[in-house]
Amino acid sequence: MSWLDRILELGDPIILSEAPVPLAPEFIPEPLTGDQNCSEKWCGNTNGAECAYVARSGERCLSAWCPEHREIVEGRVYCRRHAGIVKALLLQNLEIKDGPELENRAASLCEWVANTINDEVSNMLTVVRIKKVDVALTSDDLSVAINGPPIEHIWNRGWKLVDHTGALLRVSIEVTEEKDGEVIASVNKEEVFRSTPPWVGEPHEASDRDRENFNSQLLSVISTAITFQSAQIPGLQA
Ligand SMILES: [Zn+2]
Ligand SMILES: [Zn+2]
Repeated sequence: MSWLDRILELGDPIILSEAPVPLAPEFIPEPLTGDQNCSEKWCGNTNGAECAYVARSGERCLSAWCPEHREIVEGRVYCRRHAGIVKALLLQNLEIKDGPELENRAASLCEWVANTINDEVSNMLTVVRIKKVDVALTSDDLSVAINGPPIEHIWNRGWKLVDHTGALLRVSIEVTEEKDGEVIASVNKEEVFRSTPPWVGEPHEASDRDRENFNSQLLSVISTAITFQSAQIPGLQA
């Protein structure tokens, strides 16, 4: 019996070549550069790859991004806006195909307003938790919840005071895809503010004063609600 017959009889695997085994198609990484003009203003790079975002309707984002201006999520190129949306969907194990329509501003408005008031809200909650060594301040990244019927896609950002029992006080900013120009603020799930910012849907640019007025009105009601709610919570009383 030759050595080959013997191996066949024993059923050992026969390695005929050391060539690498080709990856299954789903494991082939997408090219991270392409041949398109980068969509970033003033960027002259021509090695942009298309944003991989596909909306619920199947519509694609038509922007393209060079290595300097792209964001990569799970090995795919996205524009900054859609990278944020895709990260939020993945965080909740939602399908990327469940992302909002291209022109929907719910996620970006929610993120923008939350970023604008982040320092002030964090300061307000820090004052409440002062001297409470067992109470910590945490914040929640952009996420989406699906409620209904009727179906509502609610984008939200939040800040929380937590102790060993869980959340004691939560401030949240929400924008639904269904009314994507309206900002909702809640403190411990109680709605305290619902308004459309002056720069949404207006043909003219809102002035800085308009923006400041909107933000200060929002912060004022959040501050009042935090003071009121924290007085009811045993874990936060002096
Ligand atoms: Zn670029
Ligand atoms: Zn995009």
